[in-house]
Amino acid sequence: MKKLALHWQIVIGMVLGILFGVLMTKLNGGSQFVKDWIQPAGTIFIRLLKLIAVPLILASLIKGISDLKDISKFKRIGGRTILIYIGTTIVAIVIGLVLVNVLEPGNGITQQTIDKLTETYAGDAKIAERISEASNQKNASPLQFVVDMVPQNAIAAMSNNKLMLQVIFFSIFMGICMLLIPEKESEPLKKFFDSLNSVILKMVDVIMLGAPFAVFALLAKVVVTADDPDILLALLRYAGVVVLGLFLMIAVYMLLVAVVAKKSPLWFLKQISPAQLLAFSTSSSAATLPVTMERVEEHVGVDQEVSSFVLPVGATINMDGTSLYQAVAAVFIMQVLWPEGLTFGNQISIVLAALLASIGSAAVPGAGMVMLVIVLETVGFPADRLPIGLALIFAVDRPLDMLRTTINVTGDATVATIVAKSVGKLGKPKVKNWDDQL
Ligand code: ASP
Repeated sequence: MKKLALHWQIVIGMVLGILFGVLMTKLNGGSQFVKDWIQPAGTIFIRLLKLIAVPLILASLIKGISDLKDISKFKRIGGRTILIYIGTTIVAIVIGLVLVNVLEPGNGITQQTIDKLTETYAGDAKIAERISEASNQKNASPLQFVVDMVPQNAIAAMSNNKLMLQVIFFSIFMGICMLLIPEKESEPLKKFFDSLNSVILKMVDVIMLGAPFAVFALLAKVVVTADDPDILLALLRYAGVVVLGLFLMIAVYMLLVAVVAKKSPLWFLKQISPAQLLAFSTSSSAATLPVTMERVEEHVGVDQEVSSFVLPVGATINMDGTSLYQAVAAVFIMQVLWPEGLTFGNQISIVLAALLASIGSAAVPGAGMVMLVIVLETVGFPADRLPIGLALIFAVDRPLDMLRTTINVTGDATVATIVAKSVGKLGKPKVKNWDDQL
């Protein structure tokens, strides 16, 4: 019998997880039960995905580059990728700014709501943590992020998932040097990485078999830890603006897929849907990366020479959903707490700050909010009102994080596809027959 496609299995897992979570919030001790007995399944799944991220980047990037035969092609792919990433991020920020200025969600917020949100969240340890993380990042020198890309110890870089850019740097360097030595000498290493790459991609398939169960656990946990629905309601207009912007971004991607890659947008969405659903469930583009790579290579047909570079780099530096959210959130907070700061000059500064902030945001849950602090500080937002500002948006941050992460991953997959098309590396999908099935 033909089994249900993986994305449907995942959707069913998500819906059941939400229903189960709602049911458990009604039962005495239900939330604790979910945290103690259900959540670990989701945590294990995320750990498994993170476990293979470093070996996957290493193997696929080294294989991808050493397959190139000639480095100038890599320069072409690299330059185009960075330019398109910057372009889509600017589009996302501008969409966010236009919407938040036209729809003015900040106007609907009463003093009573501000007081309630301040009382509930301003003293929250997580908000203080985000502000202090932001100040660590801000104190760094302007070129620090370039310095940080260069590892001083390859093994140490590989031992920390936060150092993904260092692993990318090492892999590119090694791949290029493999092209520079005689083929006979690089052959054994190339074979080793080819084989490692195939094994890791198979590991992704195997891990994904657990995805429907894992998303059940992840969403049940999100539901039992969600905030009071009244608070969520007060922020509905703000959240609505972010969501509308994110949907418009999907439309931009679909246009790019149709016009540049000449593929059906619906077909494309179907191919990458398991990665999108996982991004939504995990709120982490880094954890989703192995699945994004597998889907884009095997199901969309992007050649590994392109995807192995474009996707890991995208997961770390290209966050269109996050930058759109940062623009909307920054202006929303200013509309409520500091309307006099909403000058045209400051809005231009927000474009630049959100662009840099999305590059600097880690691909993990909640990272966008840390960098939002920096965006607000860039425009001179009064420091004493920062905790109140974050308190305003904190309650809806998790659901918005889930959505913006989905957009971040969709953006990476779209750019990989159009870059591949532009260099003649978009081929036929290579789906293995048992890929999606148990
Ligand atoms: N969670 C997002 C991601 O991993 C980053 C953020 O916006 O917080 O892509």
